Amino acid sequence: MSESSYAAAELGAGAVLAAVRHACSGAGNAFAAVRPPGHHALADFPMGFCLLANAVIAAREGQALGRERVLIVDWDVHHGNGTQALVEQDPSIRFVSLHQWPLYPGTGAADERGVGNVFNLPRPPGLPPGQYVADLMAAVDTALQGFQPDLLLISAGYDSMRGDPLGGFTLEPEHYAELVGALRDRCPATPIVGLLEGGYAPELLAEGVIATLQALV
Ligand SMILES: [Zn+2]
Repeated sequence: MSESSYAAAELGAGAVLAAVRHACSGAGNAFAAVRPPGHHALADFPMGFCLLANAVIAAREGQALGRERVLIVDWDVHHGNGTQALVEQDPSIRFVSLHQWPLYPGTGAADERGVGNVFNLPRPPGLPPGQYVADLMAAVDTALQGFQPDLLLISAGYDSMRGDPLGGFTLEPEHYAELVGALRDRCPATPIVGLLEGGYAPELLAEGVIATLQALV
């Protein structure tokens, strides 16, 4: 952190709000390319580079705009413990997280189910990328049973890419495009907002974000 970090986090959260308002107005899907990320931040405690819980801020803004049911899909290689902590008592939000296990922050076991609205997928490193994609979409399908989201948020971390120095997952840019396409197929009328989370190899991060954007628009 530096003395400007909180200001950066506030500006990031402002961009998140703008992205949600854009998407919820019917103007099209959006992506907030912000730092710092948000999915580890707790209500009163920063964690893992995260100061403000952007995904939850986005969900609450969507709900304030009349988007009652929100699905959050988190493909960052780390478990979104902050997001989970802030939504796990709220059945209006469903949270699906694919993450490496064991790894920081140590949460995200499959039996952490909240009020039945949390769907955790702890997975080992080094699996074929298609396995991660298939497992995440199977969990999304489970989360969508009896739950038609009015807003879909992606906690889009690119430390799940092959070659990231902090993670051991194997995703390539094409797999993010595949995931976005599969989410759009399942929820064709639902606005989607991507929120940048982790990703620690800048060139890989750029490729992953571009693939995501091309599939979102
Ligand atoms: Zn991460």
